[in-house]
Amino acid sequence: MIKEIPGKVERVVEHSCLLGEGPVWDARNSCICWLDILNGAIHQFSPVTKQHTVVEVKQLIGCIALTTDGNFIAGLKEGIALIDRHSGEVNVLAQPEQQLPGNRFNDGKCDPAGRFWAGTMALSEEPHAANLYMVDHDATVQKKKTAVTISNGLAWSLDGKRMYYIDTPTYAVTAFDFDVDTGGISNERIVVLIPETEGAPDGMTIDNEGMLWIAHWGGWQVSRWDPHSGKKLMHISLPVAKVTSCTFGGQYLNDLYITTARVDLSVVDLEQQPLAGSLFVIRDCGFQGLPAVEYPL
Ligand code: CA
Repeated sequence: MIKEIPGKVERVVEHSCLLGEGPVWDARNSCICWLDILNGAIHQFSPVTKQHTVVEVKQLIGCIALTTDGNFIAGLKEGIALIDRHSGEVNVLAQPEQQLPGNRFNDGKCDPAGRFWAGTMALSEEPHAANLYMVDHDATVQKKKTAVTISNGLAWSLDGKRMYYIDTPTYAVTAFDFDVDTGGISNERIVVLIPETEGAPDGMTIDNEGMLWIAHWGGWQVSRWDPHSGKKLMHISLPVAKVTSCTFGGQYLNDLYITTARVDLSVVDLEQQPLAGSLFVIRDCGFQGLPAVEYPL
């Protein structure tokens, strides 16, 4: 029997993104940061001060991670860049797909050693046209996986020995053996398969019990899975179909923040899901996440 969390799903701010994504809890500033990929915007909201700020980077932005100087490293249309969190100024570090103008960066995150991982996708969603990259501490970039379609959903196991990955159209979460000293990945295998009737797996996070939380694009839910048994443990229903990503935040990392999208919804769809594109939170959800790893500068 799959249980449903009884906690209340609240809208965090009265704003709807076209393609809300990439939530990161910034413990230093007690704020949740998230993106509107298609509007090239970084949103920041403090549940303490209630201040909501928006910074525009003037290009598609697929992912951010915090840097140790209090700013962001990001995957953009143009490549990998550092971003000033107040001005939005972009300082490009690397352009590994400069020769692929039809691609953009999509989801990304820092590994337990603080290397920034980010993958790409074709704007056309052409199959197998994209790649997954690792940005080392010296900003050198290595291609780690090829022939990806829509790179998403990174997480690392609590012992740092496994990396979890999602290529959305496969409906699978795969695990790699992970070498935290070198960033080496090997032995990719499927650990979770999402039924196609429940939408496609998008963003992902891990809780302090090592269980995976997966956003279902087109599936009206976030779900919790055991990557060792491949079993679904529970889900949270949302009032919108396109659920894109989730992360734990708050002082005790027990508030679950969830991003969503309204892109390509019809007028009829929007009547049924007027909150599509909102950032949601389930406060004190009964589970706890891990602090976001920062990229060292
Ligand atoms: Ca995504």
